[in-house]
Amino acid sequence: MPASPDVTGRRPQFPGAATELAARFGERFSEAAQARDRHADSAGWLPRQIPQAVVYAHSPADIRDVLHICGRHEVPVIPFGGGTSIEGQVNAPCGGVCVDVSRMDELLAVSAENLTVRVQPGLRRERLNDLLRPLGLLFPVDPGADATVGGMAATRASGTQAVGYGTMRENVACARVMLASGTEIAAGTEAVKSAAGYDLLSLFIGSEGTLGIFTELTLRVYPIPEQIQVGSAVFSSVAAAVRAVIAAHPRQHGVTRIELLDVASIRAANQYSGLKLPEAPHLFFELSGPRARVPGEVRWLTGILREHGAGEIQVATDPDAGTQLWQARHDLWKATHAAFPGKSGMPTDVCVPLARLAECIEFCIGEADRAGLAAPLCGHVGDGNFHTLVMVEPSDPDAKARASAFSETLARKAIELGGTCSGEHGVGQGKQPLMALQHGAGHQVMAQIKQALDPQGILNPEKITGTANR
Ligand SMILES: Cc1cc2nc3c(=O)[nH]c(=O)nc-3n(C[C@H](O)[C@H](O)[C@H](O)COP(=O)(O)OP(=O)(O)OC[C@H]3O[C@@H](n4cnc5c(N)ncnc54)[C@H](O)[C@@H]3O)c2cc1C
Repeated sequence: MPASPDVTGRRPQFPGAATELAARFGERFSEAAQARDRHADSAGWLPRQIPQAVVYAHSPADIRDVLHICGRHEVPVIPFGGGTSIEGQVNAPCGGVCVDVSRMDELLAVSAENLTVRVQPGLRRERLNDLLRPLGLLFPVDPGADATVGGMAATRASGTQAVGYGTMRENVACARVMLASGTEIAAGTEAVKSAAGYDLLSLFIGSEGTLGIFTELTLRVYPIPEQIQVGSAVFSSVAAAVRAVIAAHPRQHGVTRIELLDVASIRAANQYSGLKLPEAPHLFFELSGPRARVPGEVRWLTGILREHGAGEIQVATDPDAGTQLWQARHDLWKATHAAFPGKSGMPTDVCVPLARLAECIEFCIGEADRAGLAAPLCGHVGDGNFHTLVMVEPSDPDAKARASAFSETLARKAIELGGTCSGEHGVGQGKQPLMALQHGAGHQVMAQIKQALDPQGILNPEKITGTANR
């Protein structure tokens, strides 16, 4: 008997797919509740939707066979790396099979001449850096969680070092991608530039598993800088700190990190990470490069920050103090939750052109106050990207509704200011409803691309193009 159609019009026949997958993968195929439960959204704030089964892939051939079997039975396939995405990217709203690539985690080759590494998609960024450190190299893209490089490429991730080194868009040189049809293609080139045809690599980066599955990536890496100097500057207001960042043009001047924390975030970091920073808005900054250059650049940056209202400025002479500051910044998610016991955090993630950043942050603070929400703020302000973590009581529907409305109002404002509803966390389910507003007719073009590459709509359905495909 044919299965009944799901919301997308597909007629998934899960039992048939499950029988074939079990025969092909044995113990690496699981329908156990625990395995399925570990493979739904866990880091974010959206309701969890667990898949019907999980396959642990060990090779591109495994991924191809999952796609062939699921394609024959019209069953959705949801790629899964580290599961740290926060907008419901790995949820399974239509059921289906999660293909977990985290066991494909080898560093395959290092080219010191090209400054590239070839890696499997399940390699986690912290382990990659552990492997690179003895070679004097680093991979700079650093989302706050220990994500896989495949998941990071799929969400076009960035982090605190994007101001100096760029995002995943700039740091994936090329990749191998398995399409829904089971055909594997190479996208991009290790050459520094190429004018040969459509830029397919850029299409897949940020496609969140909706167009293909990364089976291998070649990433750009960098020599570990000779000198790294870290500091912090205190401001009387968030707006003053932002104006100082805008004046410094950090992207032009060798700044590798410049992060804003408001008073609530500083308080949380002091408590959680044992810091003793004055309870005022702060910029944390880092400059790195040759020993002959860095001290002069530090003097230049601190001079500009002072001219634009910075009070106390500390520049760490002890490298451990710098490491402690960045660890505290990375731990801010946990620190903010610890500061609001029993509450859960709804993250916002807008990004605007630098010249509009002060306006956007002032709007954000005003809206959070108006809605009566606790929304500690931090941001990769050198990129024009900032987050609030709106802390709400999970059992309070009114607070949740106010938080959702605030998040949407802020995203709409960012789009109005020429920016985006997502600087780095991606679309998933959380930002999907804003895609048509942000992209206009371009959203239909995205739906046409999805239709061309995945005509059955089995790859991570209901994400990015969502209902535009129906
Ligand atoms: C505390 C915290 C802080 C964070 N801070 C940041 C930050 O500063 N910057 C930032 O950018 N993000 C941040 N994130 C979000 C998250 O870490 C990123 O989105 C990350 O890139 C997700 O990688 P992952 O391996 O966990 O992918 P997953 O969550 O497993 O998957 C994410 C998406 O990628 C797809 N996918 C996974 N693997 C593949 C593959 N091989 N091929 C194709 N598609 C695939 C999935 O289907 C899904 O759509 C943070 C998250 C947390 C919990």
